[in-house]
Amino acid sequence: MSPISKNSARKIDDCIQPTESGKLESGKFGFVREKGTKFHEGIDIKSFLKGKNKIPTDTVHAFMDGEVVYVNASESASSYGCYVVLKHEYFLTLYAHLASIDVTVGKNVKAGEKLGILGTTSNCAKIPNERAHVHFEIDFQIGDGASFGKWYGANYGDKNAHGGYNGLNLIGIDPILCIEKIIKGTKLIDLLIDEREAMTIQIVSTFIPQFVHQYAPLVARAVDLKKPVKGWKIEFTWFGLPKKWTPIDAVDAKAPKLKLISYRKSLRPNALLRDVLKEEKGVVAIGSRIISVLKKMGFDVL
Ligand SMILES: [Zn+2]
Repeated sequence: MSPISKNSARKIDDCIQPTESGKLESGKFGFVREKGTKFHEGIDIKSFLKGKNKIPTDTVHAFMDGEVVYVNASESASSYGCYVVLKHEYFLTLYAHLASIDVTVGKNVKAGEKLGILGTTSNCAKIPNERAHVHFEIDFQIGDGASFGKWYGANYGDKNAHGGYNGLNLIGIDPILCIEKIIKGTKLIDLLIDEREAMTIQIVSTFIPQFVHQYAPLVARAVDLKKPVKGWKIEFTWFGLPKKWTPIDAVDAKAPKLKLISYRKSLRPNALLRDVLKEEKGVVAIGSRIISVLKKMGFDVL
């Protein structure tokens, strides 16, 4: 089964696998689980083909042309279970809970090419065969392997088995909002440029993270990325993706290293829930998720 196919007669909703709650939205992206308190980074696409003992036999195919950049074949090593990550022009796609994997790192795959067999693998709660699915994400990579590894080591010890393709280093965007547009030829990066900002911060730093090199179209104006900058204004989506970067030309000597410039009131509730913002005694400030995103990218912030 291809998660999404140009020729598919199925509507996306007919392909979504809900959680035990049975609610359709529980298989979609966002705060859709545990009464809106648990964030789901992708969508769950259900199994349609069952073999002996109701074990899924669906094949999982590449969403579009790409390169296999990561394969985790150890079920016990991730809540994603066995998973594959493909790199496309400006984003990654991730296929999780696979029963088996047919590709290896470095292989270039065509859209629709088989990646493996849909399954129920995960090192968290067991996924029953009747709710077997492929967890599908469209992702941006926050830090490079080194900067993320440093953050991981400081927070979890040195057990990161997945390099820069650890789920904690990936930020997903809503596949359902993007799939149709990508199929029609809109560049994902253009979708992101249109995504509204939930908040804008200023950081005083000469550092240019790998993220900026990798996603250069997110930089607001032409800038020589080989030279240090004075700092950045960074706009974030409500789920914490740094979507627009504007270099700062001059910095007041008294300017704090990091400050919140503005936030969008209409997106505040979700941004608070996602720890993109925090609110203490009526004062809104930068949330812990943003601090960790900056650290994962390699910024020196407390
Ligand atoms: Zn999922």
